Amino acid sequence: MAHTELWGLAETYRAELVGFAQKLVQTPSLSGQEADVAALVQAEMRRLGYDAVWVDEAGNVIGCINGGGRPSLMLNGHMDHVHAGDAAQWSHPPFGGTIYNGELWGRGAADMKGALAAMVYAGGLVKRLGRPLAGDLYVSAVVQEEVGGLGARHLAQTLQVDRAVVGEASGNQLRRGHRGRVELNARFEGRSVHASMPHLGVNPHFSMAHFLGNLQGLEVASDPVYGSSTVAPTRVISEPGSANVTPAALDLVLDWRNVPGERPEEIVAKLRGVLAGSLIDGCKGEIEIASKELVSYTGFELSYPDVFPSFTTPPDHAWLQRARTVLAEALGRAVGVGTWRFATDGGHFAQAGTEVLGFGPGDDVVVHTVEERVAIDELVESVVGYLALSLA
Ligand SMILES: [Zn+2]
Repeated sequence: MAHTELWGLAETYRAELVGFAQKLVQTPSLSGQEADVAALVQAEMRRLGYDAVWVDEAGNVIGCINGGGRPSLMLNGHMDHVHAGDAAQWSHPPFGGTIYNGELWGRGAADMKGALAAMVYAGGLVKRLGRPLAGDLYVSAVVQEEVGGLGARHLAQTLQVDRAVVGEASGNQLRRGHRGRVELNARFEGRSVHASMPHLGVNPHFSMAHFLGNLQGLEVASDPVYGSSTVAPTRVISEPGSANVTPAALDLVLDWRNVPGERPEEIVAKLRGVLAGSLIDGCKGEIEIASKELVSYTGFELSYPDVFPSFTTPPDHAWLQRARTVLAEALGRAVGVGTWRFATDGGHFAQAGTEVLGFGPGDDVVVHTVEERVAIDELVESVVGYLALSLA
């Protein structure tokens, strides 16, 4: 029976899996500094007997198990993590890899070194089952997800796969999509003067004030599953930055979360309309999608518009249905299908034509907090899940 066979195999490797996940958490890997974790992932893939292991020019680590072609499946995780913040706020050190009460604690435990360890092991263990795979199996560990997805963007252009499972925290339930994120810059330009004679200048603050007021009343796209798009004004930079000079210009960042189907160009057009109705006399303005230029730890550079695409796999999609059935069988429980609130690298793969689902250990509530941890039992269960998905 598939159920006991997969569990038996995963349990045999429980201690090794946990040791590897601990080692990953104990190795800091901020975005752009993933070299040490990349070395660990490569070494573990080789030790587990992958058919091929390589590092691409962006520094992504890719392991392959030959499965005779298509449909090919990629298990995908990222190697970087956000800042740990103040270590004193943690009840267990952020890079200690402490196991307490059956949970692995630390920055990256749930986002997403736990899932990455489980994927690396699933790839290694699937060969030991001696059963035919659905197709070639890739396990990819990518760079710089937390700062816009340089690694996944590059991988999506250089490695064509039919299906991808993204291992962001889902409590080992299925995820079939999320909203996208578009970062925009709104610029307001006036004429700077001495603050003792403000009437001689054009102060862009007043245009920005109108703009923000109008933004609150803006109608946004909505979706029965994903809710509404949202827009949040975040950082403002004034230039010059002096307290006794009225600014020549203001740069305001807008964080727009778009429901699937709402395109970045539509968002820009909508915001330009709001802007046109908000400018005071003598003030100019412009709205553009922010652009990003990133360099990976290998020195690879990429610049791109700051857009995390949304993705949505239809609820009646054949692979989703199949995944749900095989997971329920293998895990011995019902498996729910939901959506993520946050954006993931899945959007980059979906945009390249890959079918995407999400499945990963951990509770997304603890992600990016000083409470970050993942249950060991959930890690082992996710290995069983990834094995089942590889055979489906
Ligand atoms: Zn993540």
